Amino acid sequence: MQEHPDSVAVMVGVAVDGPYSYSVPAGMAVTRGAIVAVPLGPRLILGVVWGPPKDKIAHNRLRDIAQVYDVPPLSEELLKLVEWVARYTLAAPGQVLRAVLRSSEALDPPRPVIAYRRTGHEPEKLTPARLRVLDALMDDMAWPRPVLIGATGVSPSVIEGLERAGALEKLEMPPPPVVMPPEPDHAIASLSPEQQGALEQIRALPVDRFGVALLDGVTGGGKTEVFFEAVADSLRAGRQALILLPEIALTNTFIERFTRRFGTRPAEWHSDMTPVQRARVWRGVLEGDVRAVVGARSALFLPFRQLGMLVLDEEHDGAYKQADGVNYHARDMAVVRARLANARVILSSATPSVESRNNANAGRYAHIKLESRFAAAALPDVTAIDMRVDGPDKGEWISPLLAREVFAAMDRGEQALLFLNRRGYAPLTLCRACGHQYQCPNCSAWMVEHRFRGVLMCHHCGHEVRTPKACGACGETDSLVAVGPGIERVAEEAAARFPDARRVILSSDMGSHGQLRERFSEIERGEYDLIIGTQLVSKGHHFEKLSVVGVLDADLGLAHGDPRAAEKTYQILTQVAGRAGRASRHGKAFLQTYHPDHAVMRAMVSGDREGFYAHELAAREAGGLPPFGRLAALIVSANEQAVAMDFAKRLLSAAPMAEGVRLFGPADAPVSMVRGRHRVRLLAQSGKDFDLSGYVRFWLASGEKITGNLRVQVDIDPMSFM
Ligand code: ADP
Ligand code: ZN
Repeated sequence: MQEHPDSVAVMVGVAVDGPYSYSVPAGMAVTRGAIVAVPLGPRLILGVVWGPPKDKIAHNRLRDIAQVYDVPPLSEELLKLVEWVARYTLAAPGQVLRAVLRSSEALDPPRPVIAYRRTGHEPEKLTPARLRVLDALMDDMAWPRPVLIGATGVSPSVIEGLERAGALEKLEMPPPPVVMPPEPDHAIASLSPEQQGALEQIRALPVDRFGVALLDGVTGGGKTEVFFEAVADSLRAGRQALILLPEIALTNTFIERFTRRFGTRPAEWHSDMTPVQRARVWRGVLEGDVRAVVGARSALFLPFRQLGMLVLDEEHDGAYKQADGVNYHARDMAVVRARLANARVILSSATPSVESRNNANAGRYAHIKLESRFAAAALPDVTAIDMRVDGPDKGEWISPLLAREVFAAMDRGEQALLFLNRRGYAPLTLCRACGHQYQCPNCSAWMVEHRFRGVLMCHHCGHEVRTPKACGACGETDSLVAVGPGIERVAEEAAARFPDARRVILSSDMGSHGQLRERFSEIERGEYDLIIGTQLVSKGHHFEKLSVVGVLDADLGLAHGDPRAAEKTYQILTQVAGRAGRASRHGKAFLQTYHPDHAVMRAMVSGDREGFYAHELAAREAGGLPPFGRLAALIVSANEQAVAMDFAKRLLSAAPMAEGVRLFGPADAPVSMVRGRHRVRLLAQSGKDFDLSGYVRFWLASGEKITGNLRVQVDIDPMSFM
């Protein structure tokens, strides 16, 4: 870009194809990456200077940039990331940019802190309240107003009165940093020889250059300690670090561990923050005061300027894929960002994604293994319970063997966990008299009974009705029956079977994040004997007293027509089984299954994770499925099924021919209606080295225009097939 351009291209934060040209008013200096406000139609919106204008429009026909914000420009690396993500996911670049410009408050100058200091002049009238204030300020330091009020308990008017009387002087101080910088040498871990070996392998990746390490270690193997040391290295080298977690709002233990290691809390980034907190973290990251962030996937778009290390904890986790708006996968885009930033990435998991395992096998990622648990802790023994022969009585869900093990754990003074990955009481409500099944009026899905709250609820759109007393179809009373178990129903059975156990039930609909965090702390302190929970309890927690885990329906995830069904089931079973015996106790896990011979169950029981990955990789390769091939889903939706289907058929016939591309569909989606919109799916499959994003872009551009209430959503590398 030339030094003083009279016009520039500005990417605006809205879903348009590319940047627009604006003129630069005299006296305004802009560079690429500068954050600006520009007029668009009747409004002013945020944008970023992208470079020289594309087209030669006469300068006097362009509108002026309204304002340049007084913050450092976004880094070249971040601008490239925006373009990369947009090109790959088929989102508009402005839409991706919006994920970067997430805090408009952050652009305003930080508000100074009002503080007071004594002048030395004594006021004529001295009240007890006034005396308290003057006493507090004896040290002649300036005290921030809220601190002064907090320390003295006076009302603000007392302070203002003293100021008017000339006894106090009001000052404006710069706000304190949002977090203190982490100290890389605060509490260096003493690593086990195996952990030290893993760290050395990470250190062997050249600093200041792009590199990825897959930290592939069993649950409880001490991966966190290892990547903290790698983060410390990066901080020592003067670069910023980002640690992504799948469920940050629920993980206070992680923040505590960080704080113990680095002597100060990390900056956080997730949906539970206030706009002011967000603004301060965002600006701190851009200005470089914030050196380390622990965040959810959206933290990937924070405006780091010296990013040196990215860690994705539980890298296999489905929460890293964003499913609406920009359909990006934070794991893949983290690798892209690291490449652009010449940074290093650590992907950490006890159950790596098949994609990452394949990259490690192929030598693209350093494969770093931790095969034993830290200290004396051992991996749990896994037993499959064949429900066809050893199942419980009809209407019950806990098999006799599992019940005995729960009793035994309690006798030993240890904890047990019953796991079922389904919220609510029962997934289906049915009338015994007429056979009517309760369905959501807006979605092709059953209404799930939530007995604690007394409602039937759709898990797709949130529609709720009070649980009826009589059948809505035939009017018969007391004829409705609950079919199948949800976690609340398991809790009911557990209450009857283990009446003396101190029980806790946990699922994501059972309270606020704060309340759930409190439950986790209570479990850690050993205040419960029996934990009954959904996948919320399977992730990352460290419950020292937990020694028995029972999975009530290990087959639950296998039924879907999803190419990743086996992988996802293996991951969740390993994670939940891995909660057992995390601290020296010998853990046991029990899988209730109707398919004890399934490859997933066999791998779980034998502990043969290498065998599982080999089997799964071979199956993917044979089917040309990811990571050996690429997939892109097109979901066509409309208010009427026929409109969606007809459009999808015409779209299919307009598809350009390309070698190696196979198209499937259109077919009604497995959940064929959501929120009143009918959904039809098309799937494109290609070889690994084919630019499938480019193909789909070309396809949509050559197809007919999308009009009326039709919508086409593109999902590159789909993770969900519903
Ligand atoms: P992972 O993330 O691999 O599941 P963690 O990092 O949570 O495992 O470690 C499991 C437990 O072992 C934690 O309680 C952790 O504090 C402890 N631990 C791991 N490594 C060390 C170490 N080097 N020194 C002290 N404690 C450790
Ligand atoms: Zn619904």
